[in-house]
Order: sequence, then structure tokens, then C-alpha cells
Amino acid sequence: MTDYNTQAHIWKPYASAKNPPAAFNVVSSSGMTIVLDDGTEALDGISSWWCASHGHAQPTVVEAIRQQALQMPHVMFAGLSHEPAEELTAELLRVLPPGLDKIFYADSGSVAVECALKMAIQYQQAVGRPDRRKIAALKGGYHGDTIGAMSVSDPDGMHAMFQGLLPRQYFAPQPQCRFGQPWVESDFDAIAALLHERDSELAAVIIEPIFQGANAMYFYHPEYLRRLREECNSRGILLIFDEIATGFGRTGELWAQNYAGVTPDIMCIGKALTAGTITLAAAVASSAVADAIPAFMHGPTFMANPLACRAAAAAVRLLDSYDWQGNVKRIESELKAGLEPFRTLPNVRDVRVLGAVGVLEVEKLPCPDFVRKTVRETGVWLRPYGKFVYTMPPFIASTDDIQRIVAAMGVLADVR
Ligand SMILES: *Cc1c(COP(=O)(O)O)cnc(C)c1O
Repeated sequence: MTDYNTQAHIWKPYASAKNPPAAFNVVSSSGMTIVLDDGTEALDGISSWWCASHGHAQPTVVEAIRQQALQMPHVMFAGLSHEPAEELTAELLRVLPPGLDKIFYADSGSVAVECALKMAIQYQQAVGRPDRRKIAALKGGYHGDTIGAMSVSDPDGMHAMFQGLLPRQYFAPQPQCRFGQPWVESDFDAIAALLHERDSELAAVIIEPIFQGANAMYFYHPEYLRRLREECNSRGILLIFDEIATGFGRTGELWAQNYAGVTPDIMCIGKALTAGTITLAAAVASSAVADAIPAFMHGPTFMANPLACRAAAAAVRLLDSYDWQGNVKRIESELKAGLEPFRTLPNVRDVRVLGAVGVLEVEKLPCPDFVRKTVRETGVWLRPYGKFVYTMPPFIASTDDIQRIVAAMGVLADVR
């Protein structure tokens, strides 16, 4: 066999193929820990892109996948159905916000977002408003990397590069009122004006409730969502919540929308859905939306993959197996206490914490070599990017784990 330098042929996320960034080789994972090929154990401070909320390789989830693999790894989902999809649907109906009960399974978060946007367009067509073909979204938002999802993500992000390809959507400014601060009614003025001006063109508004993740790492006031719900209702514009990052407890509530006490017409879930084991996402609609659409024009090849469905059903049941919410509350207070003192570091512009999310917004990002050195020395896996040194630890993190993660964040943020 030819001895290829395979690393030179594997294209990594957000990276050059010609000069691939250095990467640690991981050989196993369990609980809080990922194990590198030299035996180094590192705490996973970011739950592997926010998915492994209950820790890595949770035994009941792994066993569910194993059993299903022996019986039927996959069959197509058109014209056929199966118990794994039914089991997962029953588990999700137990925990989804009331009223959201038509579940369309997709194979990744971005695809779930595409589905939600297509549902909105098809719904408006079906109810006799075919001119409503545009989407409104927020600056600072992130909804995925496919074309439609990029078109509703922060226009200052990857947009410019893909100009001409992306559909043009409408953007409102990022909400200024932060979570936990007093509500200022004028914070809603800009989006209210946008919805008024574009009323006849808008099919839907898509928004990450409470927590703008990848592009902003920012928490805003729940009242914004309540006002948005009223405004959308009065105009016949659908409201889409992207809970792909926030769902399944990340912000301290099972769904971030619970802080506002409002539900959307369509909701996207993903990431932690399978407890970080295998890809699966879903766009979930209200009956009013779903039932209006004669035939939804989407069908992923690996739709409702049985392995992923079994994993997700077991992952949803994990929510009942321990006091994750108590853990997240404790993690939140430990992150607040630990990260707040870093405000005085010259490189730190802001400190933000909600639930199991801790963010240091920095002036200058640590260089990749320094990050690698720090990962080795602290035994904590973190991946700063953009303006952020952040953690989203698994909910099983102990007080000691959080202290180690906080200390490593301090090292990474203290660059000059
Ligand atoms: C990660 C993410 C997505 C995209 O999910 P993928 O599975 O990476 O396609 C969409 N929306 C939000 C809010 C996300 O955090």
C-alpha cells in the first residue's frame, strides 16, 4: 500500500487544504475527557462543538447505537418507516414546547435550517401569500454554512465572499438589551420598523433565542422575543427559533425560549440531540404550519437514520437520569465567579455567562501555537476563535473541572 501522508489530503473546517492547521490526534473519549494519541488526557471544555452535553460516550447512548447497528443500520424513509423514528418522536413530543409537534428529521443543523426556511415559503404559498418569499434575521446571528443558512446568518460574516449566490434577506441590528438587564422598549424599534416596511415580502423571521452563538456569543433580553412573537402574529409572518445550539439545556432552561415563555411556529434542533455521538437534526413545526403544506419538498437520503434516532432517543432519556438543570445552575455560578475577575485583564473586553456558556470577549486572539501549548500544559481542550475565548462544558463537569477550565481560559485570554 502506498504510504500517503493522509493529513495532507484531509480538508479541515474553515482551513486551507494546502497548509492544514496542526491538529491533535484523538484516540478515545469518555465523560469529560478526550484522550490524545500520546496518552494525554484533556478535559473537553467545549463539548466537541457543543454537542456532548452529557459528556462523551454516554453508555446508554452508545449501547442504543450498538444494538440498532446489529439489527438495521439504515433504510430509506420514503415509503418505509421504523421503530427507531417512532421511539425518538415519542421521546421528543414529551420534551418539545407544547404546540410544536410535527417533526421533520434532517441530517445536520444547517439542513434543518434549510428545511425551516423552505417550510415557511411553502406555508405562505399554501395560504395564498406567494409574494412572501423573504426572511428577516439578526445581525450577529448564525444559522449554518449551507447557502440558505448563510443567507440568514450575520451579513458581515462569510456573506461578502458569496455575494451574488446568496439570496438577499433582511437584517435587523443585534438587540442591545442584555439578558439580566432592564428592558428598554426602544430596543425593539429597529426590527419593528423592518417588519412594518417589508411586511408584504416576509415569509418568516429566524432568530437564535436568547443566545446568539457562533457569530456573537451574546445573550439578549427575553422581552425581545415576546415582542417579536406579538409582531409576527399580527402580521402573519412565521417565527422560526433556531435552538440548535441553545436546545437541550445549554442556557439553563431546556429550551432558551422558555426564558421568554413564547413558542415559535417552527423550531430547529440539532447539536446535542444525539448527545454528541452521531449527526441528526430536525425542523419541528406547529400543526397549523405543517398541515397547511400539501407536500413538503425535501427528503434527505439518510433521513431519520435508525442509528441516529436510537442515539437521540437515549439522549433525551438522559435528561431524566440526573439533575442536569441543577448542574447547569452550579456551573453558571462557578463560571461567573471564576471568569468575572478576568475583566481586569488588559486583553479582555467583556465577560458573559449564562447557563453552561462562559465567554471572554478578547481584543487579541491567542495564536494557534500558544493555544496548543496551553492545551498541553493545562490538559483542557479549548478552541478560541474570532473574538472569543469561551467554554461550553458538558453538564457533568465537576466543580474541579470548571476551575481547571476557567484557569485555562485565563491563560488563553491573557495575551498582549
Ligand atoms: C451549529 C449551528 C447550526 C448548524 O448546524 P450544523 O450541524 O453544523 O450544520 C445552525 N444554527 C446554530 C444556532 C448552530 O449553532
